[in-house]
Amino acid sequence: MTMNRESDGNQGKTIGHKTLSEKLSDLIFPQHLYCGCCGNIIDETRKYGLCDHCLAHFGWNTDGLELIDGMAAGACLDYGIYERTLIFGLKYKGRKYLARDIAAIMADKVCALGLDKICGTIVPVPLHRSKERKRGFNQAALIGKHLARLTGMECIPDMLIRTRDTAPMRSLGPAERRWNIEGGIAFNEKYASLASEKRVLLIDDFYTTGSTALECRRALNSGGVTDVTFLAFAARRSRDTGDAAAAMGR
Ligand SMILES: [Zn+2]
Repeated sequence: MTMNRESDGNQGKTIGHKTLSEKLSDLIFPQHLYCGCCGNIIDETRKYGLCDHCLAHFGWNTDGLELIDGMAAGACLDYGIYERTLIFGLKYKGRKYLARDIAAIMADKVCALGLDKICGTIVPVPLHRSKERKRGFNQAALIGKHLARLTGMECIPDMLIRTRDTAPMRSLGPAERRWNIEGGIAFNEKYASLASEKRVLLIDDFYTTGSTALECRRALNSGGVTDVTFLAFAARRSRDTGDAAAAMGR
């Protein structure tokens, strides 16, 4: 990998010297004392803050990008119980520090695919205000912030907005997912003057059919962003079935 962990884009910060908020975060959540996935005791040298067992059991996806309805899209991992544990720890158990480890995994994929050179701007899939208020954060935006720091890209967390709350996608089939999300995401007009010059890397923690990502692309296109690539932390391999049991049976 050719990750540049020394520079931090245009933010004037350096990676070698953590920001104050990151130092505080390290005090509250000492990173890499315990595996972020299973909780085993580890030392600081473990990659991504994961123990050897979990690293070996992650479903590493070494593929390049595929096309979903004409949009280049990819994922770092195939979604299974280990990946789910990490995502659930962040989203539902409030372990915000896991966003750093997820971002580190995504940063290696971004750099391996050269997406940091191609895209320039990270835009996270938005969460509806009510959900964000309930959870306290948007996990994709949190990952995006760390990903920007690691890759030297910029992150614009509010370029997209959820215009209505949607039902959870988990129990829906592919057609229902499209219907559920249709028209639910809009471009934030305050970025209208910048849109034409932005090449966007849309990111999310997870995808199945890609219907949410495609709705984000539609919204970005409508705002004038023509170049959109999508990368998720994990993707469910059996995308056509919508069958959680099949995806989890790895
Ligand atoms: Zn572990």
